[in-house]
Amino acid sequence: MLHKVTLIPGDGIGYEVSLAATRCIEATGVSIQWENLLAGQDALDKTGELLPQAVLDSIKKNKVALKGPLTTPIGSGFRSVNVAIRHALDLFACVRPVKSYPGVRSGFKDIDLVVIRENSEDLYAGIEFQEGKPETAALIAQIKKDTHQCIRADSGISIKPISKFASERIVRFAFQYALDNSRRKVTCVHKANIMKFTDGLFLQVARQVAAEFAGRIDFQEAIVDNMAMQLVQKPHNYDVLVLPNLYGDIISDLCAGLIGGLGIAPGGNIGNQMAVFEAVHGSAPKYKGMNKANPTAMILSGVLMLRYLNEHKAADNLEKAVACVIAEGKFVTYDLKPDPLDPSAVGTAQMADAIIGKLKR
Ligand code: NAD
Repeated sequence: MLHKVTLIPGDGIGYEVSLAATRCIEATGVSIQWENLLAGQDALDKTGELLPQAVLDSIKKNKVALKGPLTTPIGSGFRSVNVAIRHALDLFACVRPVKSYPGVRSGFKDIDLVVIRENSEDLYAGIEFQEGKPETAALIAQIKKDTHQCIRADSGISIKPISKFASERIVRFAFQYALDNSRRKVTCVHKANIMKFTDGLFLQVARQVAAEFAGRIDFQEAIVDNMAMQLVQKPHNYDVLVLPNLYGDIISDLCAGLIGGLGIAPGGNIGNQMAVFEAVHGSAPKYKGMNKANPTAMILSGVLMLRYLNEHKAADNLEKAVACVIAEGKFVTYDLKPDPLDPSAVGTAQMADAIIGKLKR
């Protein structure tokens, strides 16, 4: 079967890791027609728009996309295109499997957990009030009037909306994911002791959904700061984690650290109708064009995409080929070598060649 897939190569190291991933995916033998589209700064330069409608239309039509990382300039008032794509397509669940591959240097072995991050609300909803603006002063005055709480006049304010609807949707997704993937436990991560009306609501809804799955999937609750410590001390006690957006972002990177770093952590943003697969890492601009970045996270995001497309055999073969190259430790990028300055480290394209070589055997 021919699959039509939208490809957003991204910027920074995006082009290199996307090319490595598409070459590896094609080498599995699946039939894919890529529809190439630009987003971010490159799209702005060419079309005058950061996120051209054509990108969203292509994903809506094809229902699946593979996306490289896109740079977000800091302090320019420019909102992340990555977040904008997730919002525009209602890709409410960010799924990030965290799995150890033998051969990767890490203080931990046999990690196998999944981070499921809510993608649509929380502090990432983008409702912000800038310091010094009249609307910010009006909000501060209104808060004082309604709650008798004082906020300093020289404050910026971010709003953290957490709804019953989005909480139920993500927690149900996490439990269903656990059932479908033979997992045993879902842990709801929160800070409900402090944020009673936002995280408290998330937790309350999680408890209700958990009750429907009782006897099939275990349920556990964890306060986010304690969770960070537990993950470093006893990561094997956890299975599927479900978190509001911001904690999900932070805990994802912590979990990437457990398995050896951002270079090998894949992910997918999934909605009811479509999905966009992308690595956890960003565009690492300092490595742009150097053929240095590890393509594994992007290739493993491709593995998740193949599973989404029901190409399970191709996905299994590609994952095995990646695991084999990492375990051998010869044709791997600098970050997978015991010494990052090891001159025998290969480039992005050469690591992809080695993976393709394993697929062809
Ligand atoms: P980053 O993930 O791009 O890089 C942090 C560091 O991790 C790099 O300097 C590098 O040492 C290492 N690293 C990351 N990916 C690697 C790889 N594939 N191989 C080897 N080493 C790798 O994070 P950042 O520097 O905070 O962000 C850079 C830009 O990327 C920012 O503009 C940010 O907004 C954007 N970003 C985009 C996405 C996305 O597209 N989904 C995600 C995160 C960050």
